[in-house]
Amino acid sequence: MQKYYSDVLIVGAGPAGSMAAKTAAERGVDVIFIEEHEVPGTPVYCAEGLGLDGIRAGGLEPVPPFIAQEIKTAQIIAPNGISLDMTSENITGYTLDRQVFDKALADNAVEAGAKLMTKTRAMDVIWDKKQIIGVKAQKNGEEIEFYAQVVIGADGHWSVIRRRAGLTRYFSDYLICAQYQLGGLDLEDPTINEFYLGMQYAPGGYGWVFPKSNKVANVGVGIRIKHQKAAIEYLKDFIGNDPRFRNAKILNKTGGICPVSGTIEKYIMDGLMLVGDAAGMLIPMTGAGIHTGIESGKMAGRIASEAIKEGDVSEARLLKYKVEFDQKWGKHIKESGRVMEMLDRFNDDDLNTLSEIVTKEDILAMANGVNVKVAMAGIVKRSPRKLIQLIRAYLR
Ligand SMILES: Cc1cc2nc3c(=O)[nH]c(=O)nc-3n(C[C@H](O)[C@H](O)[C@H](O)COP(=O)(O)OP(=O)(O)OC[C@H]3O[C@@H](n4cnc5c(N)ncnc54)[C@H](O)[C@@H]3O)c2cc1C
Repeated sequence: MQKYYSDVLIVGAGPAGSMAAKTAAERGVDVIFIEEHEVPGTPVYCAEGLGLDGIRAGGLEPVPPFIAQEIKTAQIIAPNGISLDMTSENITGYTLDRQVFDKALADNAVEAGAKLMTKTRAMDVIWDKKQIIGVKAQKNGEEIEFYAQVVIGADGHWSVIRRRAGLTRYFSDYLICAQYQLGGLDLEDPTINEFYLGMQYAPGGYGWVFPKSNKVANVGVGIRIKHQKAAIEYLKDFIGNDPRFRNAKILNKTGGICPVSGTIEKYIMDGLMLVGDAAGMLIPMTGAGIHTGIESGKMAGRIASEAIKEGDVSEARLLKYKVEFDQKWGKHIKESGRVMEMLDRFNDDDLNTLSEIVTKEDILAMANGVNVKVAMAGIVKRSPRKLIQLIRAYLR
């Protein structure tokens, strides 16, 4: 059996894994990162929306071929069809070409000195007493073993590393997504991202139209609570009821799971760290996880390399990563999750009422979990009694 040895072994070459690989390799430690697919970034399970900060956090600029479309407006559509436009003078939103974007992040890690092994699937972790010291994998039907001082699990929401390490098995809350990439469109304004709220579109989540040009768009739904049918059925109804999509061609069908129960409690052990979706690090209200994945990868890569140089890869030493991640993202993820749970109590009429009294700033605060208390206090002042009761549940 072939055996490989490195300082850091990373499982998964998504945004989180590639950023961990690049950051650790830049600091002079030996890095191997493995990916089960042939090419990092393919296939794509994503609506491909990302802000300027997220692109730059990955060390890239918002230019083709990494991006497909600039976005100027986020349009929120209430169940009664009334919409609220959030337009920014400066372009800060983009629809990526995620295949190219993810591949570029992996290429940059390789350029920094990390060794990438594709078509290599992690199957289990290797223990030495209570410490994880490596990973069992398969490549071309052969079993191989990787040994490392630190293993970083960057293998997405169904992380084999997390589960085999005995950490959280299932996320308690998640969006089930279905998406078609539609072509042959004639969109009036491709710089608008549309978000549809309401039971008919996506119970507990939202429906989206993220243009990649005026001809192509990612059209999807993410559902959570109280759904009456499968996500794909909501998607078919969503598309079927929009005349813009009548003659569209389906270019690609995809979907997937976005964990939205928040970052898991424990994602570090002796010799082990989890990053990105593997640790549930998404913004619950939006299901967005590229930016947080990139940031968590950078933090984990840096702290793993520092710990290795100091000769201490214990959980206590690696916990610095959790402290840093919590400082930057912990509150936003928690607050966004609480807003999502508050909105679970709203029926479509309540959402319509809310859409009439919220400001753009309120929506940004609620979606991203930033300054939510201030936003809520303002909303309460403008709310009818029924909404105040629903919002109080959040303020308590
Ligand atoms: C339908 C949908 C739409 C979304 N839209 C958006 C959006 O518009 N904007 C946004 O910010 N987020 C979006 N997300 C969420 C976003 O895609 C994730 O949060 C992000 O990809 C997380 O990055 P990651 O590196 O942690 O995991 P991933 O991108 O999932 O990468 C994990 C990698 O690990 C590999 N892997 C898995 N298991 C193994 C194994 N056993 N061995 C080896 N390799 C393995 C996978 O092949 C993959 O390459 C969406 C998600 C879905 C499902």
